Amino acid sequence: MAKTPLMDQYKEIKEGYKDCLLFYRLGDFYELFYDDAYTASHELELTLTGKNAGAEGRVPMCGVPYHAAEVYIYRLIQKGYKVAICEQLEDPKKAKGLVKRDVIRVITPGTILFENAIADKSNNYLACLLEKDKKIHMVLCDISTGESWWGIWNLKKEQDDFLDVLSVYNPAELVCGVSDDFYRQLTSFCSSRLGSCLVTRMPETDETCKAPSIAESIEDENVRMAFGYLADYLQNVMRDNLPEFHSVQPIREDHTLILSDQCIRNLEITRNMRDGGRRGTLLELLDHTHTAMGARLLRRWLERPLVDVNGIILRQDGIEELTNHAMELTQLEELLSQVFDFERILGRIEANVTSPKDLLALKATLKIVPQIKNLLASSSSVILKKLNGQMKVHEAVFDLLDRAMNENGTGNIKDGKYIKKGFSEELDEIRSLSEDSQEYIAKLEEEEKEKTGIKLKIGFNNVFGYYFEISNANKIPVPEYYVRKQTLVNAERYITPELKEFEAKALSAKEKTEELELKIYQMVKAEIRPEIPDMQRTASALAGIDCIASLARAALKDRYVRPQILPQKEGRISISDGRHPMVEHALNHEMFVPNDTELNHDNQEILVITGPNMAGKSTYMRQVAVLTIMAQIGSFIPAKSGMFSPVDRIFTRIGATDDISTGQSTFMVEMQEVSYILRNATRNSLILLDEIGRGTSTYDGMSIARAVVEYIDQKIHGFTLFATHYHELSDMADGSSKIKNYTVTVKERGKDVMFLRRIVPGCADRSYGIHVARLAGLPESLLKRADDILEGLEGSDGKGYHAPSAPSNEARETGFDLFASPIINELADLDVMSKTPIEAMEILFRLSKEA
Ligand code: ADP
Repeated sequence: MAKTPLMDQYKEIKEGYKDCLLFYRLGDFYELFYDDAYTASHELELTLTGKNAGAEGRVPMCGVPYHAAEVYIYRLIQKGYKVAICEQLEDPKKAKGLVKRDVIRVITPGTILFENAIADKSNNYLACLLEKDKKIHMVLCDISTGESWWGIWNLKKEQDDFLDVLSVYNPAELVCGVSDDFYRQLTSFCSSRLGSCLVTRMPETDETCKAPSIAESIEDENVRMAFGYLADYLQNVMRDNLPEFHSVQPIREDHTLILSDQCIRNLEITRNMRDGGRRGTLLELLDHTHTAMGARLLRRWLERPLVDVNGIILRQDGIEELTNHAMELTQLEELLSQVFDFERILGRIEANVTSPKDLLALKATLKIVPQIKNLLASSSSVILKKLNGQMKVHEAVFDLLDRAMNENGTGNIKDGKYIKKGFSEELDEIRSLSEDSQEYIAKLEEEEKEKTGIKLKIGFNNVFGYYFEISNANKIPVPEYYVRKQTLVNAERYITPELKEFEAKALSAKEKTEELELKIYQMVKAEIRPEIPDMQRTASALAGIDCIASLARAALKDRYVRPQILPQKEGRISISDGRHPMVEHALNHEMFVPNDTELNHDNQEILVITGPNMAGKSTYMRQVAVLTIMAQIGSFIPAKSGMFSPVDRIFTRIGATDDISTGQSTFMVEMQEVSYILRNATRNSLILLDEIGRGTSTYDGMSIARAVVEYIDQKIHGFTLFATHYHELSDMADGSSKIKNYTVTVKERGKDVMFLRRIVPGCADRSYGIHVARLAGLPESLLKRADDILEGLEGSDGKGYHAPSAPSNEARETGFDLFASPIINELADLDVMSKTPIEAMEILFRLSKEA
């Protein structure tokens, strides 16, 4: 059997893209073959078919229509595949022999640009790592917005830091040129902490690829090399449609507060504890942004709060100005809500994946910009003035789009009519030719009917083009110049020279219209392109304005106040009547009990907070951290007043995060976290420790907890909130002038307790465990037994846990019968098999009355 040239071509192309699924364009479909077909049919639930491949027989195949391919590609990317798009490089109608094909781009999680593929409200990061001189150099970018960031970490000393940063940015894709050692650590970190990050290893190379021009401003040669390395990768996957980077910023400024991903989740800043989603987070509460770019920026603000006092005050001033001008704020919000995702549209223009719809959205946005500038023209805060100055109006682009783009089309290329009438004479002319053809057809039909006296009509199909159709009912001899083309069951189809002549003209007019329209569209884009960097700056200013407005809205809505920001060296956090914003929200504001906090280096560095479980200790501790973060992003806070010197890091050791996937015990994980905190915390850090030492025996646990607090007190001096239900630990305050005891007030009423949620100086004198157990609904008989045991323990010499005496026989028989009830007893004794159905019914009926 003969070989098929098509499959040979396929194999040759596929050879270069072994790690990708190859989408091979065949007419109106992308086809996948062999293993790719198995994978795709399985992952996308497509029917697996076969293609005749000459000598090879049938080859497994499956396909997706090209116009719907985005959705399928997106789903594959989400599942961790890379997709190589192989296109036809010439018009199949014009090609001689086999159509030329090649891969025009590879789509990966970090480079996907489809409009709906990436979340609007978060960045889609691609990270590139280069290890050089025992340092890790990272370039992080978001191709869809043209932003990039960079940083350097010492592999030995700062690896924890680096991994923290990586976990916070949570890139969709990682490209790395690193040593075997670090690569191993990285992949294990990615699989345990980064979810679905795709890691690609590239050879470590010393050959400097050309870095994008924006990287020239960076002093470090190795970072520039990492940029070049990234450019190389992008060149590989994106080919001719390389994105430009418009902004480059260092990740590791000294003036950002470092939060680990874990801390962000523990405190529910941008991801919640339950599923890592946005629900119930501080971000959700503060996000009143109206643009997707604003939403993305606000998330970044929250994940990297500021440490620089001036930076914080600048934002505060802007927020205050807007809260004082509520009407302008509302107007600003209305304008912002008409702004499209400008940043990403510009990214798509650059990468050549726009649709006319994008250009219309760009035009709509540019129409709003001057109005926003106008509104903010009289603002007095430095930040709003600065952002306003950064925005340009881009009149020429607006004017061009206004003249060129048709608002009333579908916005898709394939439907045509996206270039406005009046923009190009040439286009209008050939368009009218092709539009006139409808009229011409109608006229010709009438003329022929009259001439021949036959009832005929003109039709069109892709195989025969235009034809006259005469149904059998109207069949009478046709004129000589009618040429029969097709016989149907009840009709005949004919063509005439005149009809064919018209057809050639009409089709070429249609084709020409399409071609010209596309050409004009490309020209419009080309004309816009030089303006993109400026427009990106406008976009980022809009994002900033949106964030300030959003925080102003949050402040007005939830009665937040402006905290005072103190120099870091002053070392103080002081909150009066603070509220936990998310808990307060969940409780509908009314029942939330506000609390004060005072931390300073003179006499209150460590607060030991005792109180029973469920009293509100952990809410209180988180509240302090959440309010600190709010203050450091420049936001107002839920409190009567507050003073903050910025902290450099926040550490949390909260709850039992059992790492089941790595098979580590809760206690082991807990100790690793504590050790991490002790290694990295400084005098300027804020540390939350919730019930440490719980995972082991009481005495072990208490001893470790005590030693940890002493270590912080003597060596670190960071502000620490330490919550425990072991009231025994409150004597630590006796040993240091900077440790203070606090407790959550509890009211005892007989055997019941009531939590007042008020944090006051002092310590709990007991643990109230049994009271809490009662609240949770444990059986009374069990609680009584627990009381007895406790009494015995407290009456003993206090030197250790003595096994309590066994319950008395009486208790065994009566009191300690867990869920004893006469009904249960009767049921247990019942011999069901010996009863008739009626008897059984009677018993059930009686028991149900007794219950
Ligand atoms: P603990 O850490 O002491 O076990 P939590 O902080 O988890 O207790 O608080 C238990 C519950 O009490 C929370 O779910 C919350 O609804 C409520 N709570 C905590 N603090 C307050 C407060 N200040 N005002 C009102 N309710 C609160």
